[in-house]
Amino acid sequence: MGVPTLGCHCAVCESADPMDKRMRPSVLLEYGGRCVVIDTTPDFRSQAMRAKLDRLDALLYTHGHADHILGLDDVRPYNAKQRSTVPIYASSETLATLRRQFAYIFEGTPTFSSLPQIELREVDGPFDLFGARVIPIPALHGPSPVLGYRLGDVAYLTDFSLVPESSKALLQGLDHFILDALRYTPHPMHSSVEQSLGLVEELKPKHAWFTHICHDLGHAETNAKLPPHVRLSYDGLKLEGAI
Ligand SMILES: [Zn+2]
Ligand SMILES: [Zn+2]
Ligand SMILES: [Zn+2]
Repeated sequence: MGVPTLGCHCAVCESADPMDKRMRPSVLLEYGGRCVVIDTTPDFRSQAMRAKLDRLDALLYTHGHADHILGLDDVRPYNAKQRSTVPIYASSETLATLRRQFAYIFEGTPTFSSLPQIELREVDGPFDLFGARVIPIPALHGPSPVLGYRLGDVAYLTDFSLVPESSKALLQGLDHFILDALRYTPHPMHSSVEQSLGLVEELKPKHAWFTHICHDLGHAETNAKLPPHVRLSYDGLKLEGAI
């Protein structure tokens, strides 16, 4: 929902610490002169401005929930600037959701408005993207499938409640593991702080970064309780890793 959460006046929502201001979760991968974004949140435009995103070469999607897809229409300036379509990589379920939620893009109805120029590509296993190997990490988000992504020694896995053993095998030897940890209280669709700490303990990444954090977790006070190699991520956090 973002922090501050609309209408809320809790200590975290009213905190003066800039680390307690959280837009919806998204990641920019920069390598080889390319810019690849994972998920276009409802805040995509603001996030792209903040990151000074001058080009967009591809989009990867984790799943089709509103907080991960609703910024898609804002690819249009990059279509215009680059005079090209933007390839979109997602599971077949997520592509079906995009076709439904953004039906106007696919209807072929004549219009004088500009439409996002995108090309849908189904992810059904590892693939190469601009010279990097992208390994999808299947997980469960409540009853629904979700994909994380691993490039080199870095993996991003948000919105999960269960990671199957076959996916744990894909998450070994990580330098940086960015993972869902919504709050302390268990949630049927998300990993809690305790569950994510257990997964970190099991997978032993060098560094773990919690994301998709709700207003239950204040930045400074939560970090003070976490082991030193586990931190809350924050808007604008930059990590370097081998891809
Ligand atoms: Zn609040
Ligand atoms: Zn979700
Ligand atoms: Zn989400």
